[in-house]
Amino acid sequence: MAKVIAVANQKGGVGKTTTSVNLAASMAATKRKVLLIDLDPQGNATMGSGVDKYDVPKTSYELLVDEEPIDDVLVHETSGGYDLLAANSDVTAAEIKLMEFFAREVRLRKAIAPVRERYDYIFIDCPPSLNMLTVNAMAAADSILVPMQCEYYALEGLTALMDTISKLASIVNPDLKIEGILRTMFDPRNRLAADVAAQLKQHFGEKVYRTVIPRNVRLAEAPSFGKPAMYYDKTSNGAKAYLALAGEIIRRQESNQTKVAG
Ligand code: ADP
Ligand code: MG
Repeated sequence: MAKVIAVANQKGGVGKTTTSVNLAASMAATKRKVLLIDLDPQGNATMGSGVDKYDVPKTSYELLVDEEPIDDVLVHETSGGYDLLAANSDVTAAEIKLMEFFAREVRLRKAIAPVRERYDYIFIDCPPSLNMLTVNAMAAADSILVPMQCEYYALEGLTALMDTISKLASIVNPDLKIEGILRTMFDPRNRLAADVAAQLKQHFGEKVYRTVIPRNVRLAEAPSFGKPAMYYDKTSNGAKAYLALAGEIIRRQESNQTKVAG
């Protein structure tokens, strides 16, 4: 049964899409069956997976608004080795249309139910706001992965985000967990960033991944080639960091399962 992880942070430009694409590819490379759901009308995860958002026949819109079966909407085996539910500007209309529906928060959860058995991981790349699409992602997910940059206001922003998540979760998904907090675009030469990174670890402890994603130009370049970084430059520090993150997530999950079973 797939573990569903929403990659969310209401701030833009923190590395949500980069994390979604590269983590999906890294998990697929370790022989996991992966589905990536693009819920951002910008369609960056779609383009970064080598799927042309201007040319894709169906998107999350058809899934959420028209209730088309997920198998009719999916793109199979993208350049990263995972399946994709695409997004483009049509998804902006979906956000508005959703408001008309009864039980509008759980459309995504219902839509992916038939394929949860088929995957090991389902990642959801959320838009940079707390709109009805993000609410759908939170209702559908088992847990939330929060990417963040180590900036001056990071700690404050994260505390506010955690509050919002727990309020939302109490309404739409009381079982929702924090999967982890990921430090992204890290530059070790920046003293402030290093201080903030350490503070995050102090405040949020085990929730913060040991893996840190470095600032790495290959991660920024890869999307323009329609590939995750590991298929653009597998020797890059960015590609290696996301592989390490995949390993860390898998190990965490395995040790949690042992705990529950024991
Ligand atoms: P979000 O989805 O949160 O808006 P993105 O993943 O799109 O953020 O990242 C914002 C910008 O920063 C993009 O241009 C992306 O290529 C770049 N970027 C993301 N992570 C890194 C990184 N670790 N190193 C260098 N550039 C990065
Ligand atoms: Mg994005």
